[in-house]
Amino acid sequence: MRPFAQSGNLRLRLTLWYGTAFSILLLLHIGVATYVHYSQLINRAYHAEIQDLETTEGLVYQAPDGRITMNEEYFNNPEIRMHLDRHLEILSPDGKVLYQDQRLDGAGIDGPLLPHEGVGTYNERATRLSDGRRVLVISHFHYIHGQPMILRVAYDEAPLFANVVSFLGVLLLLAPITVLIAMWVVFTVASRALSPLSSMVRRAEKITAERLSERLPVHDPSDDLGHAARVFNGLLQRLEDSFSQLRRFTSDASHELRTPLASMRSIGEVSLQTSHSNEQYRDVIASMLEEVRRLTQLVDSLLAISRADSGQIALRLTSFSCIDLIQEVIAVVGILAEDKHQTIFVADGPQIILHADRGILRQAILNVVDNAIKYSPASTEIRIEVSVASDSIAEIAISDRGPGIPPEEQSQIFDRFYRIDSGRSRERGGTGLGLSIAKWAVEAHGGNIGVRAAEEGGSCFYIHLPLSV
Ligand code: ADP
Repeated sequence: MRPFAQSGNLRLRLTLWYGTAFSILLLLHIGVATYVHYSQLINRAYHAEIQDLETTEGLVYQAPDGRITMNEEYFNNPEIRMHLDRHLEILSPDGKVLYQDQRLDGAGIDGPLLPHEGVGTYNERATRLSDGRRVLVISHFHYIHGQPMILRVAYDEAPLFANVVSFLGVLLLLAPITVLIAMWVVFTVASRALSPLSSMVRRAEKITAERLSERLPVHDPSDDLGHAARVFNGLLQRLEDSFSQLRRFTSDASHELRTPLASMRSIGEVSLQTSHSNEQYRDVIASMLEEVRRLTQLVDSLLAISRADSGQIALRLTSFSCIDLIQEVIAVVGILAEDKHQTIFVADGPQIILHADRGILRQAILNVVDNAIKYSPASTEIRIEVSVASDSIAEIAISDRGPGIPPEEQSQIFDRFYRIDSGRSRERGGTGLGLSIAKWAVEAHGGNIGVRAAEEGGSCFYIHLPLSV
């Protein structure tokens, strides 16, 4: 249930995030739209006032008693009558009120005359009537019958505000509905987009160490989820490979350990069935010690492999002569070659200085030379040659006159516990791990190891090492 709840949560969270962001943007939008609407209304009002003022100017006249009044037409003018919130005030240049609209009810348009108010232009400003009402005022300097005067037309802002408030009200009323619709759309789209994730999660839940062959469904390999699924499937593949390698290794190792143990047990059991002379007991103990030696060798190899696998081995790099290292190896295994009347010949070659972990590299060369001695017939020659394969690669080639390695098995012999003839190899004390350890040791130095047919028959194992390492 949990993953479902989690993917549900994600959908919900996405929707809420989107809803919040959308609401903020919508509010901003409403704010800007209202402001623009308000500015347009004001502009329109000023524009109407100017037209109104022009009409009004033609209708002002001076009565015979000197009073300034409006032509009868002014009160009957349908356009002017429409402007119920319009107020008119006429002032002399010294600020005396010459005429005032009845609708002003004695309340003047606030503020004294501005310097040069309305001269040459239409002055516009927002101000208040003396009773506090907010108005938009247009003033214009005008001559009537040669008498200078200032006409002021003021529009009440209240209807304008009412218009803006109702505009804002409609937008705000629609806003939650718009936000809800947008959130519903996002929720539906997110649900659809994330549904492959739910099926991936359901499948991933079923994957256990025993069912590593399961893979996540890839709905659309080109999208992000498809890419994630492919990456995850790649990881599963690598895990599956590692697990099966580990299982194979464990079962191979147990099998290898069983053989010397079973052999020791049967030697012991057989010798206990009858009584023997001291000499015979010594032989029995010697046979058992030989098995113990094999067991120890195997356990050492297993330990080396497991330490190498866990990355615990850090290379201790030093510089040394390659030929010196080969001589050191010959000193160790030379006795085995002597037992079989074999000769180990080291060909003249360039003086190569390696920069490597001497102990680890020695083990690699030792395993290969040891194999050459083990698998070559008696009285043959083993040839070791050091050369520079290319500008920056050193080659150590170990050739023998043994049976050689069939081409189809040349890559497999470096696998753990792989033997071409397991019976004979075990007889010769092989564990099936020597070449895999050598491969690890060479690769840890950035080199590679391989085998080819030797010119004189037999096999030629070569180790390539970068000289710059
Ligand atoms: P082992 O301990 O059995 O020798 P290795 O990993 O060293 O294991 O070698 C793997 C197998 O490769 C050996 O069992 C053997 O069959 C084959 N092999 C290795 N070296 C040689 C060689 N010089 N000549 C012939 N066969 C070889």
